[in-house]
Amino acid sequence: MSENIGRRLVTDIPGPRSLEWQRRRASAVASGVSSVLPVYVERAEDGLLHDVDGNALIDLGAGIAVTSVGAAAPQVADAVAAQAARFTHTCFMVNPYEGYVRVCEELNALTPGDHEKRSMLVNSGAEAVENAVKIARHVTGRAAVVAFDHAYHGRTNLAMALTAKNMPYKHRFGPFAGEVYRAPMSYPFRDPAGLTGEAAARRAIDHIQSQVGADQTAAVLIEPIQGEGGFVVPAEGFLPTLAAWCADRGVLLIADEVQTGFCRTGAWFASEHEGVVPDLVATAKGIAAGLPLGGVTGRAELLDAIHPGGLGGTYGGNPVACAAALAAIALMRDRDLAGAARRIEQRVLPRLTALARRHPEIGDVRGRGAMLAVELVSPDTGAPDAARTARIAKACHAEGVIVLTAGTYGNVLRFLPPLVIPDALLDEGFDVVERAIAAEH
Ligand SMILES: *Cc1c(COP(=O)(O)O)cnc(C)c1O
Repeated sequence: MSENIGRRLVTDIPGPRSLEWQRRRASAVASGVSSVLPVYVERAEDGLLHDVDGNALIDLGAGIAVTSVGAAAPQVADAVAAQAARFTHTCFMVNPYEGYVRVCEELNALTPGDHEKRSMLVNSGAEAVENAVKIARHVTGRAAVVAFDHAYHGRTNLAMALTAKNMPYKHRFGPFAGEVYRAPMSYPFRDPAGLTGEAAARRAIDHIQSQVGADQTAAVLIEPIQGEGGFVVPAEGFLPTLAAWCADRGVLLIADEVQTGFCRTGAWFASEHEGVVPDLVATAKGIAAGLPLGGVTGRAELLDAIHPGGLGGTYGGNPVACAAALAAIALMRDRDLAGAARRIEQRVLPRLTALARRHPEIGDVRGRGAMLAVELVSPDTGAPDAARTARIAKACHAEGVIVLTAGTYGNVLRFLPPLVIPDALLDEGFDVVERAIAAEH
């Protein structure tokens, strides 16, 4: 495969060439678009990024849960090259092609539930969420959409409205789309009332019933495990209770599986862990190994209720992105990457739990599959410790390990390795994380 089998640091991180590009970037690229670690990437292999200075960094972020099959999977690269050589674009709304249909068939087969389904394709997660909401409003004839505390759904205007956190996502970017309401989430580590999943769902339902009205509500939109909000895993029973209430009241349940989907949590979709069958599922991120693609999948009668021409877009379901998705999905299936995600959990979670016993600054360890996190707090008060979290992330970066932070309070260190990462790299990456946490002790 490659002669470079491990982490390698030959300069400071970032190195001189990256810093040179960083200077060039400053006079070319809008400063509002920032980077976690300004190391300029030259090429990638499974779990490793090689930079322009000759350093090799261990990737525990996968480009935010995108490159699950690796950032340079030959099967994906070949499929992309072959499709690009045939044709790069027609616009599916002008002339269709097989790849789009095949990706929709895969989505219909893989998403939860064995009912008749239809799908549509878009370019991003935000667009997937927007379209799911469009469909839900159209079909129900109701306007209100309920999202949750700590939710993240993207950066377009409606997606910003649905997103909870002000800084940096919403600050001074309003006014936002209307008829969006926020309900209390089940966040076991910080639940002020310490509610069980079912009771937390009742709390959310009471909130919706009293402040929105079930008969006004088109959809309840939820990430089965929250991503940017801090890898919040709702208490067991929360999602099924909510789903049952939605079904009872004619409210559509939209699962935003943009981050959790495509094997990330040890199942094809995170809704499966509690047997929840959403009416609509939004996908993107892991679907196509980094080529821009997203989807909305749902009950056939919902998607087929929209008039012809009501859904679409110039690039949605681009043929090159579809070729990448088909290759990526084949890899997930053939290599059992859901199983790989569960093995990553088995390898990493005990380490993190042991670490938390040694370091009371780790208030919580949580996640599923290859979507794992630690929440850093003041041991005395439990108050979020964003400064410590940032220092630990920075120390990991300096040692050539890419980790990301998350959380409403910025105090969650999250891990999203590519599902194909070799064990040796995974272990070495977490050795560095452990040392960085210990050094902060
Ligand atoms: C990333 C993300 C989005 C937005 O996806 P984009 O492709 O960045 O528009 C929406 N929902 C969730 C849960 C996400 O993690």
